[in-house]
Amino acid sequence: MKYALLFTLIIIMLLALFTCPEKSMIATDHYRVVRVVDGDTFIASIDGEDVRVRLIGVDTPESVHPNKDVEYFGVEASDFLKNMLKDERVFFKYDQNNSATNHKDRYNRMLAYAYRASDSLFVNAEIIRQGYGHAYTNFPFTFLEDFLKLERDARMQQRGLWADGELPKAVSDSLVWFNPGSKKYHRESCRHTTAKSLSMPLEEALQKGFEPCKVCKP
Ligand SMILES: [Zn+2]
Repeated sequence: MKYALLFTLIIIMLLALFTCPEKSMIATDHYRVVRVVDGDTFIASIDGEDVRVRLIGVDTPESVHPNKDVEYFGVEASDFLKNMLKDERVFFKYDQNNSATNHKDRYNRMLAYAYRASDSLFVNAEIIRQGYGHAYTNFPFTFLEDFLKLERDARMQQRGLWADGELPKAVSDSLVWFNPGSKKYHRESCRHTTAKSLSMPLEEALQKGFEPCKVCKP
């Protein structure tokens, strides 16, 4: 009888150990990357199920450049994501803008921000920052402004798919205004632009690491 009680206690303890909620939360926090589909989509294993993940706010070349180089850049973008996620695990964050559709797009893909588990690299942003995709602004999302800025910088630095490309004329020719001692640049019409302000090409301002003014949003 004594042994039966001890045996029961051991069973209960073992059960508690294997079903500990804290433990299972840690175990399901990071997900294995099964396969990269293209530059902005990959498959992750979530609770034993292969889930197609569409990265929010980024679009890779195919739809950007409807010309002969499309396939080349498409492969580049796909390889870029493959290298970034090779043998890696990721964790996800969601955008409240997609809560109405339960974070799914019309192709039933999961809409998410992905972060590489090993170093918390923000995957969506990194694709744009390195010039392997552009900010996808057809739908609202939290990081829209940030992603647009990353794209602008990538274009100016001619990174990735923007390499060897001609800079958009309107951008390369346009002037911005700055005030001596400040690292912000403005539109001519901004209230911070005065008679003492100086101008330079936008391209130059970006190369010098100037930041766009939050008031006039140049
Ligand atoms: Zn301004």
